Amino acid sequence: MNEFEQSWQKFIETGNFLAFSRKWENGIASARHATLANGLKISLLDSGILQIEPNKLSSTSLLISSGIHGNETAPMEIVEQLVNDIWNERLPVNVRLLLIIGNPPAVNIGKRFVAQNLNRLFSTRYADCETQDYETGRAQLIEKAVAHFYQSDESSTSSPVRYHFDLHTAIRPSQFVKFVLYPFMDDRPWDKNHIAFFGGADITTVLLGNQPAGTFSYYTSNQFEALSATVELGKVKPFGENQMQNFSGISKNLKCLIEAKPVKSVPFDNAVYKVFKVKQEIIKANDDFNLLLSDDVKNFTSFEKGTLLASDGNDEKYIVENDGEAIVFPNNNVPVGQRVGVLLEEIEL
Ligand SMILES: [Zn+2]
Repeated sequence: MNEFEQSWQKFIETGNFLAFSRKWENGIASARHATLANGLKISLLDSGILQIEPNKLSSTSLLISSGIHGNETAPMEIVEQLVNDIWNERLPVNVRLLLIIGNPPAVNIGKRFVAQNLNRLFSTRYADCETQDYETGRAQLIEKAVAHFYQSDESSTSSPVRYHFDLHTAIRPSQFVKFVLYPFMDDRPWDKNHIAFFGGADITTVLLGNQPAGTFSYYTSNQFEALSATVELGKVKPFGENQMQNFSGISKNLKCLIEAKPVKSVPFDNAVYKVFKVKQEIIKANDDFNLLLSDDVKNFTSFEKGTLLASDGNDEKYIVENDGEAIVFPNNNVPVGQRVGVLLEEIEL
């Protein structure tokens, strides 16, 4: 038996999804299928892309992705735990399930990405890039797997329900440790029932996107009308340093969805949830353009009207327009044309 076959056999026996994905970081020759001892049909579509079909028909398709940024370890450990529980028959699977570890080569070098930010390349934005690299290929491959996953639910009789949870951790510390970022919904309304799911997972800070984006969650929302969200679960830490009990709220609720049991929810109420609308992305206009914030500024830090937030020292600048505007994802270390931060305004929904 060659090395790959040995590794595949071990995966079928143990469900070591993360280790397997890291070992075969550059992909596998072709999709592999197997039936587990508990009767579940699994398909490893590529490195880090695992589809699990329940034993009976389900009209619910649940996508849980992690590691879209390779250094964000906690989400991958959450997914690894789900796979372990499924393999050990502690977690029955009663919905169609697609689990993704987004960027295995970046995981292996402990970096956010190899060549460029994968979470800017979805909705075929990979095709607009001048040079093709690992991430452009990976975005294309993930899109193909996801499209097939959602579209093959149409064989079932009742109307399909599609979910996508894209799990992340943030580079910066945050005033609100956990928050959910909803992609722009085009003409569809914000779903307060879906927000209630997050309240039940101890997440009560909600950001609403204001425009189409190259993010994974916008892609699944816009293309497949999935209930999609980018979920920020705290600060980035290396493998082994995450306190898994910090993620028990989201883990439990995801397990309920997988098992098709009622989730824990906290009904939407403006007094309970803090809701922010994205006002504007601050874009790096040129090489000298920088946020004028210290490196340790927290997500959701707010500013007074008139504060100079970003400048290139000459004409390009950003001045806060209203009291209370707050910043998330501040990051000067991006190429020209990408965002150095996202400005928010607090609203009621
Ligand atoms: Zn991330």
